[in-house]
Amino acid sequence: MPCLKNRDTPISLIAARRMRKLGRVPIFADPDLTPMKDQWYRVAPLMSRLPRHVFIILPVLLAFVGSLDRAPSALAQEPIPVVTTLPFLQEFVEQIGGASVSVVSLIKGTESEHTYTPKPSDLVAVSRARLLVQVGVGLEVWVAPMIESAKNPGLTVVTTGQGIPLLRGQGTGESDEDGHAHASGNPHIWLDPENAKMMIRAITDALIKMAPAQRTAFLANQARYLNEIDTVETAIKEQVKPLKDRRIVTHHAAWPYFARRFGFQIEGVILEQPGSEASAKALTGLIKLIRQKKIKVIVMEPQLNAKVAQTLAEETGAALVTLTPLPGALPGTERYLDMLSYDARQLVEALSRPTTRE
Ligand SMILES: [Zn+2]
Repeated sequence: MPCLKNRDTPISLIAARRMRKLGRVPIFADPDLTPMKDQWYRVAPLMSRLPRHVFIILPVLLAFVGSLDRAPSALAQEPIPVVTTLPFLQEFVEQIGGASVSVVSLIKGTESEHTYTPKPSDLVAVSRARLLVQVGVGLEVWVAPMIESAKNPGLTVVTTGQGIPLLRGQGTGESDEDGHAHASGNPHIWLDPENAKMMIRAITDALIKMAPAQRTAFLANQARYLNEIDTVETAIKEQVKPLKDRRIVTHHAAWPYFARRFGFQIEGVILEQPGSEASAKALTGLIKLIRQKKIKVIVMEPQLNAKVAQTLAEETGAALVTLTPLPGALPGTERYLDMLSYDARQLVEALSRPTTRE
């Protein structure tokens, strides 16, 4: 940069070329004045009005803005933009990331994870995110094409279900014969809080990679949240303990992990494939099963069509209990752990009630 200290310094030819290169000359050029020398005189007074330290700070400032473009997460005040497929994943990321993350969930608790259709705004969110957190393991079949279309080379995808052993078999809704989407196993892993812990650890690892400076804070947040999970898990187990009859029929195959962890027993599933109707044959079979085995409770979910579950309850006299596999669908289920407590409490109460039939 030419010397700006002395406003009487005449412009040199080299300095003038530099100025022209910088695009300053045309701005200050005045056809009435002799070029070169006068241009400098006209530029210099303006520049000298700026405090001298601006010229020292400016390159630093520009470098700083440049770094914002390249790595916004490196700065604590710039939250990492995160997209999650489901609301409990949003909560997990927020619990660990705190103020270092800005999270949106594509699906709301009132929507079904199986029949969801992405909106144009989802694509925009994915194209702007640095982290996308999904369950994976065959659940969000609609997300891979969206990641493809978003064309976001800076996006890291975290599959939280990776490495978690999946349940298979009857009532888990994953067999190929009935055409259900979960060919590799049941993907509703998050309804077991022990699985949720593994998913949370995967999220913490990903966040540490994105913002290594926040490692200690993220790990502290993780420890606190995992403790909260333990407390709720223990409380639910205590509630379930005195129950003698733990048999249920569920709306769809969301509950095997929950049932296994807390000791409920799934005898049948109404919808093998959410989004489609149960066949008359399957319903007749279920009615027969509920009557014969004297099953007291049918689980209904707010994300699915209530009609079949209601018909089944009317036909058999079994009690209908509304549970949600996604937080936020029912009052008092906004947080993941509140949802687990709510679902368990509803089941325990319904299964403890003396039956009205027989
Ligand atoms: Zn499901």
